[in-house]
Amino acid sequence: MPTPDDELLRGAGLRVTAGRLAVMRVIERIPHGEAERIHSALREAGDRLTLQAVHNVLGDLTAAGLLRRIEPARSPARYERRIGDNHHHVVCTECGAVGDVDCVVGHAPCLTPSEASGFAITTAEVTFWGVCPDCAANPSDKGARSP
Ligand SMILES: [Zn+2]
Ligand SMILES: [Zn+2]
Repeated sequence: MPTPDDELLRGAGLRVTAGRLAVMRVIERIPHGEAERIHSALREAGDRLTLQAVHNVLGDLTAAGLLRRIEPARSPARYERRIGDNHHHVVCTECGAVGDVDCVVGHAPCLTPSEASGFAITTAEVTFWGVCPDCAANPSDKGARSP
């Protein structure tokens, strides 16, 4: 029985492999996951992909448009399956937790500069910074990375 992920991979012109399916399954549970977290979640689930293999799969899926890659400042690249809706991110300045923020306008670019130096603007990458509820509730727990 082909799963929806099989169809997604085929639709994107990618071969369906156990590794790609496993990574897609894990990112479903860990939106905005980093390669290392995805790797350890895979190991916990019994999938023995190397970290390098995880990086390769993430690269392939991102290039095929099945994953979105974001790189908040001072953070390793993070990956998510919520694609194509031009949503933005809010990042915790204490622990690096990432949340989704809907695009106000609903399509790119949702911000238009008054003066773009002659550039044709296609997207605006907006990152909001703040303190997440966990860190706000435990101000002493600085630096701890929430799950
Ligand atoms: Zn936080
Ligand atoms: Zn997101």
